[in-house]
Amino acid sequence: MHPALARLIEESGTIAVLTGAGISTESGIPDFRSPGGIWSRYRIIEYGEFMASETARLEDWRRRFDMEDQLGQVRPNRGHLAIARLLAEGRCPAVITQNIDGLHQESGVPDDKVVEIHGNARHALCTRCGLRHEIAECRAMLEKTGRPPACRACGGIVKSAVVMFGQMMPEAAFARAVRLAEGCDLFIAVGTSLVVHPAASLPIHALRNHTRLAIVNREPTEFDELAELVLNGEIGELLG
Ligand code: NAD
Repeated sequence: MHPALARLIEESGTIAVLTGAGISTESGIPDFRSPGGIWSRYRIIEYGEFMASETARLEDWRRRFDMEDQLGQVRPNRGHLAIARLLAEGRCPAVITQNIDGLHQESGVPDDKVVEIHGNARHALCTRCGLRHEIAECRAMLEKTGRPPACRACGGIVKSAVVMFGQMMPEAAFARAVRLAEGCDLFIAVGTSLVVHPAASLPIHALRNHTRLAIVNREPTEFDELAELVLNGEIGELLG
């Protein structure tokens, strides 16, 4: 780990970590802005359209299966592992992530210590009763019937657990993220451009309580001048 970051961590009592798409690029998942990534190839389907149109649901599921195939091949990298170690040491209660790829859990962080403010692409939920469905199960249903999957308990519309554009943020997860930001004395933002709201408001919550801010990112962010430490480079090298 970069010595300046190691020193800040050493000096801190409670640490909060926020990660973004940048932590997963070294695993082979392109970030939001990279050309050719899954996100840049597709027109956005908003929540309202998904709920209203079977055609939109079929298209969204086709993309989910595509993404599931890609996610099935990726593994956590040095950045994920460094954060898993930080959590295991006990001073960082949970990792807050904007990512939907499940790689923090795969790196060994228990599920209840990953606060996913944009949901998770590795499973699906019924939009009516909330029952969890696995993506493989949804794929089997669609392949059998040619129609988008319906909840096996109540028949409601099943949707991947990712928060879609136009959909409410998961309130409990975000409230927990705010509490973590407010309750730490060091906030580390890793691999996020800090432009997507409300995630970008988390460092502000932290700074209001005179928390120290560290930023680890390839490019500058608008928060750099408020940070005590800015490390511009590759996450794996800086954290590993
Ligand atoms: P972003 O794409 O806006 O920013 C990522 C930042 O990480 C960029 O500033 C980039 O310079 C930096 N970066 C990329 N690779 C890096 C590396 N190896 N080392 C250091 N820095 C690196 O991502 P965001 O702020 O997370 O917002 C994008 C939105 O898209 C989020 O809502 C997220 O849910 C979603 N998304 C998720 C994934 C995923 O789950 N892996 C991937 C792409 C997008």
